[in-house]
Amino acid sequence: MPVLGVSLGHVSLLRLDQTGGPAPGNKSFKLGHYFFEAKRLGIARLVSFGGVWSNHLHALAATGYQLGFETVGIIRGEPTEEPSAMLADARRWGMRLVYVSRQEYRQRHDIVYQQQLKERFAPCLLIPEGGASIGGARGCMAVADIIRQRAPLARHIVVPVGTGTTMAGLVAGLDESFKIDGISALKGAHDLAQRVQDLLPHLPHDNPASWQILHDYHCGGFARVNRSLREFMLTFEAIHGFELEPVYTGKMLLAIHQLRACGAWDKDAPVLAIHTGGLQGRRGYSWLS
Ligand SMILES: *Cc1c(COP(=O)(O)O)cnc(C)c1O
Repeated sequence: MPVLGVSLGHVSLLRLDQTGGPAPGNKSFKLGHYFFEAKRLGIARLVSFGGVWSNHLHALAATGYQLGFETVGIIRGEPTEEPSAMLADARRWGMRLVYVSRQEYRQRHDIVYQQQLKERFAPCLLIPEGGASIGGARGCMAVADIIRQRAPLARHIVVPVGTGTTMAGLVAGLDESFKIDGISALKGAHDLAQRVQDLLPHLPHDNPASWQILHDYHCGGFARVNRSLREFMLTFEAIHGFELEPVYTGKMLLAIHQLRACGAWDKDAPVLAIHTGGLQGRRGYSWLS
C-alpha cells in the first residue's frame, strides 16, 4: 500500500523488534557475548554507558534483571526530578544509575578512565557504549543467519546505523551475493565506514557482502526529527499498523521511501529492511503517543 504516494511494496521487514525476550531488537545480539563472558569469568556485575534514552542501557538492565546480574549505568547528565521512562524502567530492573557530567562522559573511550571505573565497580565487566565492540559485532552475525532462514531470497538489505556494530556483523555474516545499505542515524559521522572496516578483520568471514553507508537521512542529527520524518512515520504507522521509532527505524524507512520516490532505487526491486527495535524510545516523543 502506498505511503504518501509511494508504494513500499517489495519492501519486507525483518522484525527484530519481536525477538530478544526482555530486550527486543539488535541490542540483545550485541550484549549476548558479555553475559556469556561474565558468566564464564564468574563476574556478577556489568557496567556500561548511555544517555537518558539509551536503548543499550535499557537492554542491559532488562537482561541483567532476567539473568540475575547486577548492572550499573553511567548516565550522561544530571539527575532530574522526573526521570525518563527509560531510566524509570532501568531503575525498576535494579540498575544502579550513576550520573556523570558531559565532560566526564566524554572520557568514556579513554583507557585510563575505563580502568578507574573497573576498579570502582570491581569485580565487573565494562561494556563499551552501545555495545560497540568485536564481541558485539560477532553477536550480530546471528542476524545474518536469521536472514538466510527467514528470507532466503533477500539480497538487498537495509539497516540503520549508530556505531556500525550491527552492520559489521551483517557484512561479515552474509556473502558477496548480498548488498547492504546502512542508513546513518547521525549527522556527518563520516568515520562510520572506518569503524565497520576496523571490525571486519576480527570477524570470521570469507567473501563479505558489498556495503555502503548513506549519510543523508539523519533528519537534522542524532535523535532529531524533522517534518518529513514525522509525517512519514505517522502515515506509515497508520497504514501498516505497527510501530517505528524516530531515532533509527523511522529514518531507515524514510530513506528507502525517498530513494524510491526519486527513482534512485527501482520501485519493483525487493528490499529487506531490518527493524532493529528501539521502541521503548518512542516514549520520549510526545507526538507519537
Ligand atoms: C543501537 C541501535 C541501532 C544501531 O546499531 P549499531 O550497531 O550501533 O549501529 C539501530 N537501531 C536501533 C533501534 C538501535 O537501538
